[in-house]
Parts: sequence; structure tokens; C-alpha cells
Amino acid sequence: MSYSRRNFIKAAAGVAAGALATPYIATQSKAQSAGGNGGKPLKIIHFVSDGTSPSMVTISDIFSRTVRDRGLCWLAMSKDENAHTGLMDVASLSSCVTDSSASSSAWGCGCRINNGAVNCLPDKTLLKPLYELLREPHWKRGLVTTTEITHATPAGFGSACESRGDTTAIANYYRTLEIDVLLGGGQSIYKDNMLEEYRRFGYQIAKTSDDLKKIDTGKKVLGLFAGGHLPMTIDWLNHKSLQATVPTLAEMTTKALEMLGANDRFILQVEGGRVDHACHSSDAPGAIYDHLAFDDAIQVALDYQKAHPETLIVVTADHGCGGPSLNGMGSNYGDTPALLANIQKAKGSFERLTSGLKKCGNAPQVQAYIEKNYEIKLTAEQANWLLLVRDERHTEIYGPISGYTGQLGMTLANHFGISWGSGNHSADFVALVAKGPGSERFKGLIRNTDIFGHYMDFAGLNFRNKQWTGKTAQAVSVPMSAHWLDTQIA
Ligand SMILES: [Zn+2]
Repeated sequence: MSYSRRNFIKAAAGVAAGALATPYIATQSKAQSAGGNGGKPLKIIHFVSDGTSPSMVTISDIFSRTVRDRGLCWLAMSKDENAHTGLMDVASLSSCVTDSSASSSAWGCGCRINNGAVNCLPDKTLLKPLYELLREPHWKRGLVTTTEITHATPAGFGSACESRGDTTAIANYYRTLEIDVLLGGGQSIYKDNMLEEYRRFGYQIAKTSDDLKKIDTGKKVLGLFAGGHLPMTIDWLNHKSLQATVPTLAEMTTKALEMLGANDRFILQVEGGRVDHACHSSDAPGAIYDHLAFDDAIQVALDYQKAHPETLIVVTADHGCGGPSLNGMGSNYGDTPALLANIQKAKGSFERLTSGLKKCGNAPQVQAYIEKNYEIKLTAEQANWLLLVRDERHTEIYGPISGYTGQLGMTLANHFGISWGSGNHSADFVALVAKGPGSERFKGLIRNTDIFGHYMDFAGLNFRNKQWTGKTAQAVSVPMSAHWLDTQIA
């Protein structure tokens, strides 16, 4: 897709040429902290690529070097002698496989909770979220995401409620806490009366990228740039109408730093939320392009940090999703690079393209549709398989990859070299890199709940939420797992 390539190269104009990186996870021996307050940061930027296993980082890095002539900032950070790297155990209370709300809540309240809850224990005790605790010591607070702003990952820092699905409660929590910067999607969640309440609390409302450019940076902002989630990056790149109205994650991050940076202390969570959605759908082009857009936002933060060395940048994921794998293909695996390069020919996400594909009545039509949108020639057998799956006339032999998009993803795996393990989250430990004062705490293998304690300490707060000591769903249903829970990493 030469169009998208041009755009990415343009977007990359400010990126240092030295960003080429070899993927690896290791602790830097020469890492040191700089700036800050006695080795502690005064500004924290916490990046989350939702649903991103270490394999997804690897694939995106190789693809970025293929089409953008540079690797990911994420991995360039890992090679920086002033950074620390590691892995994070992101399990929840109810499973070794977490969802986004339990994962973000572990960072946001210091406790493992059940999947589906937001800073809430199994007995419905609401815990104090990070952004509530940082309000009194006058830390400015921001949430930026490509999902609905009330989605699970931002909610884990800025709210508490029984269910991640209670978007009204989450929106009201944000307003009550007067979180300074809220940028993402979700116009359909914010009805007129709720918007009026936000205005009454001093919020400016932005609905387009032009609105965002014009806001008063001295006041609070609620930016809602789509009815639901923001469009996937690959769709944004292919539709000028989306480019005209929807800001990129990097642009939202830039504006958030401009606003929060006026204060001497702030914390900002930046989420690339749609990588997860693409991985649920086994959509390799969708996932990779959203991951590259996430990486562009990291570059914005690194540039900010150069001028503000009191800033700590933490980059990680909340969990893996889909188990993507870039496989050895062809003789001596020599076909893999060319197959991966096919990703750049894709014209859209599965989210946008599958409805049209499903309307194809026969194999030649399926082949023509795939050729038009991916420049890939499916065999008649592959095209017929997609028709069988669409009509549910196939026999499922592996449950977690049984859906239509899963089968489409696996069919295209023959042409991209990227296959999938499932359409679900995974138990992978996630990659972690941190740079700036306090970054030495983010190395080796750490536990997700450690993050909360570090952020409390950076703010000079001793507060700790009540931990759950009762039975867990996991211990009850899977007795062997009780031992696993007892041997949590310190
Ligand atoms: Zn997910």
C-alpha cells in the first residue's frame, strides 16, 4: 500500500535515524536515572499497547524496518543505556489470562481483581484509583486512547465500578475527579445531559481534530472524535474523510502534553487500544498499522522528555492477544520477508472489509474481492473455504479460532506469513521498558500491581488499597492454580 507507506514516512520525518533496533528483552547494565526529584519523576507518561504480546512487538518492528526503514521506538528505547527493560506478569485475580479492566486496575489500585471489574474487589468493595489519589497532591491527570474514552484501560486509572460495561458510571467518575485531559472516542456514550454536566465542571468539548487544535490549553478538555472507538489506523490511512476529522494518537498525545505540561507534576496514560481489537479478529494489517501509530506517540513522549528530563516514560502492554506469529515460510524460510511486505498492500481492516467480503456469492467473487483489497490471489480452495465458514457449513476443529475473521486471518496467513493462535487474550508476560527518573524500578520480571506502589511513592503517598484475601474464582475452579497464586512474584 504505497499510499500508507508515504504517509508513514512523512510522519516519521522527525524520528532519529538511529532508531534501528533488534528486538530483545534484557536489562541494561549501564542504566541510570536523571533529573526528577531525588531520583523520582515529576511527570509520568504511561503507554499501553492493548493486547500486545512480545511477538506482536517483534512483528511490528520487523514490518516497520521493512516499510519505514527504521525499527520501533519501543525497541530503540530498550537499547538506550538510560533505560530499563523487563517483563511484566499481568495475571488477574480470576485467571492467569487477564482482561483489560483487571490489568489496568492492577496498575491503578495495586490489587489484582476479577476480570470485568474496574478497581473493585469480588465483594464489591470499591478501591481508590490512582487518579483519585493523585488529585489532592495536585498532579494533573490525563487519559488518551484510540478506544472509547470510558473503555477498560483508561477506566483502570480514573474510575472504580463493579463492571467495565458501566460506561455511564465511568464517565461520571472521570467528571467527578475532574481529570484534566480526556481524549478518545465515545460520542454515543456521552448524551447531551452528560456533556452539559461536563461543561458545568469547566470542560471544553472537542469532536474533531480542528476542535482540538483550537481549545484553550489552560482548561480541561473532553475530546470525543468518533461515535464509538476511533477508526483503525489502516482505515484512517485509506480514507481522507477520516484524516480530516480524527486526530492520530500522536497528535492527541502532543496536545495532552501541551496541556498537562503547564503544571509541574502530571501523569498521562496513553493507550493504543485497537491493536487488541485487530488481534481478536486475527487481522494482521489492522494490528500492525495500529501498533505503528502507537509507536509514533512514543516518539512524541521521547521528544518531550528531552526537554523535560524530570519525565518518566513507561511503555508496556496490558496483555497479549491472539498469539500472532511471524513464521518461517518457503524454502529455508526465505519467503517470509516478501510475504510480510504484502501487509502494506492491504486497503483496510477486517472491521471495514469483512461485510463486503461476506456479500460475495461465489469463489470467483471472493477471489476478486481479496485481490482488490489485499492484492493477494487466493486459490479457489481458499475462496471456497471462506464461503463455507461464512455459511457455517464448516466443521470447527479448534474452538478459539473458529470465527469468520479467525478463518479469514488464517487463510491470509498463507500470504502474510502471520498466523494466529486464537481470537482471545493470552497469558503472555508482556514487554516493559522505562526511561527517566525512577525507571530502575521497571526492570527484570515484575508484577503488574508493583506499578501502583511506584507511582504512589513518586507522588510521596503511602496509601495502599485493601488486598483481596478471600477465595478466588481461579482457586475454586482450578485447584492447581491456588499454588500458582501463592507463588506470585515479589
Ligand atoms: Zn481484548
